[in-house]
Amino acid sequence: MLNIVLFGPPGAGKGTQSENIISKYKLTHLSTGDLFRKHLGEGTELGKLARKFMDEGRLVPDEVVIDMVDDKIANTLGTNGFIFDGFPRTVAQAEALDKLMKKNKIEISGMIALDVAEDILKERIRERGKTSGRTDDQDEAKIETRIRVYLDETLPVAEYYEKQGKFTKINGVGTIEDIFADITKVIDRY
Ligand code: AMP
Repeated sequence: MLNIVLFGPPGAGKGTQSENIISKYKLTHLSTGDLFRKHLGEGTELGKLARKFMDEGRLVPDEVVIDMVDDKIANTLGTNGFIFDGFPRTVAQAEALDKLMKKNKIEISGMIALDVAEDILKERIRERGKTSGRTDDQDEAKIETRIRVYLDETLPVAEYYEKQGKFTKINGVGTIEDIFADITKVIDRY
């Protein structure tokens, strides 16, 4: 099985590249942001709980995220593997994911981090906000908070995988095709 963590700040291109990876390697997409937006749209209790955090650009509490991921993995049978997009976002989530993997007798193949400078990120998020319908993409203060949260709480997750020898950084600026070609080179070594 191929279980890949696609990592990077908001606006790094994780969603776009996930789609490419999924169609080439036939993996199951596990985007915690998408799952939360689905719950929000359906008005579930989980959606209501997540809303206030998402609206402010802050992280949803770890235990809520971990339970949702546990559920999704348990309910996805016979897959070639997972592409984790936007998860794990804290070291506690990374540790919980390792436990979940062990429980299911699978493991993380590696983390691929998309490297993009902050000014380009902001520009991309503003552009996406014109069509995404995401309120968190349309507000400068929320964009700022999300990048700050990434630097403070999420960046240490890269080190967590680096220590396990599972970390590869690639340049996230360029054409979608060139970036994807770099990603496939990494995946094909797993
Ligand atoms: P995203 O689509 O990945 O940018 O996620 C949108 C929002 O959902 C984030 O700003 C968080 O509020 C929440 N979220 C998504 N994934 C996570 C996660 N792994 N941990 C905590 N909050 C998350």
